[in-house]
Amino acid sequence: RQAAYAELRDVEPFTRDGTRIMVMMNAGLRDDMPTLALTGADGIGLFRTEFQFLVSSTLPQRERQTRLYRDVLDAAGNKPVVFRTVDIGGDKALPYLQADDIEAEENPAMGWRALRIALDREGLMKAQSRALLEAAAGRTLNVMFPMVSEPWEFDAARAIFESQLKWLREQRKRVPEEVRYGCMLEVPALAECLDDLLPRLSFISVGTNDLTQFLFAADRAHPRLAERYDWLSPAILRFLKRVHQATVGRQVDIGVCGEMGGRRLEALALIGLGYRRLSITPAAVGPIKELVRRIDIPAIESAMNEWLVNPPPNMREALSEWAKAHEI
Ligand code: PEP
Ligand code: MG
Repeated sequence: RQAAYAELRDVEPFTRDGTRIMVMMNAGLRDDMPTLALTGADGIGLFRTEFQFLVSSTLPQRERQTRLYRDVLDAAGNKPVVFRTVDIGGDKALPYLQADDIEAEENPAMGWRALRIALDREGLMKAQSRALLEAAAGRTLNVMFPMVSEPWEFDAARAIFESQLKWLREQRKRVPEEVRYGCMLEVPALAECLDDLLPRLSFISVGTNDLTQFLFAADRAHPRLAERYDWLSPAILRFLKRVHQATVGRQVDIGVCGEMGGRRLEALALIGLGYRRLSITPAAVGPIKELVRRIDIPAIESAMNEWLVNPPPNMREALSEWAKAHEI
C-alpha cells in the first residue's frame, strides 16, 4: 500500500466524476516541510504557528518568527501555505507569556486562549503580523485566526494586520502581493453569524477537533469520552452541511482542517456534504488521495442528503456498508 501511495504522490486527486479535491496537510515545524513533497499534498492547509512558541523557553523574537515563516514559504514553493496565528493558552500554556495571569482555569479549552490572548496582548499579535507580512513579501500571505467566536474578533485581528501593512508601505518596505484573510470555524456560535462574517473574508477552515468538543460539550482530551461521540453523527453532519451551505454562491473557500478529514469514512462524508478542501495529518494524505479517486460525488451526495433527513440507526455502519457496496 505504501508503494501505491508513493505512486499517487504526483497524481492530482480527482473524483470519478472529475471533481478536483484539494488534499492539503497540517504542519507546525520547519521539519515538517520535507513531508509536503514526500506526500504530494496540495499545500499546507494549517500551519500551527504556536509550535515555535511551545518549543521555546522564551517568547520567540520577531526576527526568529520571520525566519521560520520565510523558510516555510520557501520550502512550499508554489504550493499554498495557510498560517494560523498563535493558538496558545488553554492546555498549551506558556509560562513566560502568562506570568502575570497565572490562574488555574476551570475550563482551559473555553478559557483565555488563542485569539482571545492575542487581542488582549496586542504586542504579541503586532509582532506576529509583522513577521508574517515581512516573510511573505512579494508573495501571497494566507492567514487565519483561531477560536473566533464573534465577527468583531476577526475584524480586530485583521485590523492589526492592516495597520502593520500600512506601516510597512509607509516605510517603503516590500509587502505581500496579496493578503488573504480567513477564519477558523471551531466555536459553534460563529456559525450563526456567517451571513455577517463571510463578505469580509477569503476563506473559512472548519476545525472539527474543537468544534465537536464544543458541540457535544465533551472534552476532546478526556479518555473516557474519546469513544462516546462519533464524528459521523447526525448532529455534526447536519451542522457541517449548514455551514457549507452558507458559503455556496459566495467567493469564500471552505475546508476542514480537523483530524476528521484524515479518516476514510469521515472524508467520504465530508465530500458528500459538499466539502472540496481537506487539510489533514501528513500520514493520511496518501490514503485520502486514493479514496478520492474512488468517489462518485453525485452518488455520495444523494446518500448523504437522504441520511441527513432520515438518519439511519447507525450512521457509521450505513456509510461503511455504502462504501463497500460502491467499492470505496
Ligand atoms: C481544530 O480544532 O480542529 C484544529 C484544527 O485546531 P487544533 O487541533 O490545533 O485546536
Ligand atoms: Mg482548534
